[in-house]
Amino acid sequence: MADLGQRSACGQHCGGRAVTTLPAWAGRLPDGRTYNTCPSAGICRHVCYARHGTYLWPTVRAKHQANLIFVLDDPAGWEQAMLAELAAPKFRGRFVRVHDSGDFFSDDYTRSWLRIMRSAPDVTFYAYTKEIHRFRRLVEPDPPENFLWVYSYGGTQDGRIDAATDRVADVFADEQAIAEAGWSSQEASDLLAVLGPRLVGVPSNRIPHFLRRLQGRRFSQWQAEVDAEREARRGTGRVRSITSAPSLRRRDGRRTDTHAA
Ligand code: SF4
Repeated sequence: MADLGQRSACGQHCGGRAVTTLPAWAGRLPDGRTYNTCPSAGICRHVCYARHGTYLWPTVRAKHQANLIFVLDDPAGWEQAMLAELAAPKFRGRFVRVHDSGDFFSDDYTRSWLRIMRSAPDVTFYAYTKEIHRFRRLVEPDPPENFLWVYSYGGTQDGRIDAATDRVADVFADEQAIAEAGWSSQEASDLLAVLGPRLVGVPSNRIPHFLRRLQGRRFSQWQAEVDAEREARRGTGRVRSITSAPSLRRRDGRRTDTHAA
């Protein structure tokens, strides 16, 4: 079996579309190996919903880790298993989200997905990713026709995103903040992230300790602050501007979801 689930493990944002899943960010497998499935995660890892709640249940975590072990130990077998699963009639004409947690963590893994997509033309794949540089090199020059993606803020490669031309997703405090910025919410359907307007707003969810960390900021804003502090410590003095970011404000009591890996 591959890892293609019928249910959405990311709640309302996937609306029941098929989703593939890896364990989020960094951890240790039962055999002692360490991993990082989100090598470009930045501030998002501090408020990652996939490192919270049901995702931490032992059975859920074991399933996600088993998916990763399959990918790592038998990539060719995993690729074949994915193709076999996607060949089922029930996937014809459907959307499959690549990852509700984890990201395109290596070139080889990304190339595997590109082959899978090209071998399953009746399925439309979509993904959020923070692997901007990898996509610029491996995906953008010749993307599969049935693949849609959105670059998401909150990662160490935010500075590589061009908000003037790229399809981009940012996490906001709430719907009002999205509207004030002139972005479009994907709250009604996760597919709006790739089918709706290019500037995609994701309302945060209400996990209280995540809200405290977020402090009403957009992910892009928070990441830019962290990047600026790092640059200042290095003494370079370079500061990255944030496109149309609202003024800093605190909005407690709202949702803080955030994958957008
Ligand atoms: S929010 Fe996404 S990219 Fe960030 S750590 Fe979680 S799963 Fe990884």
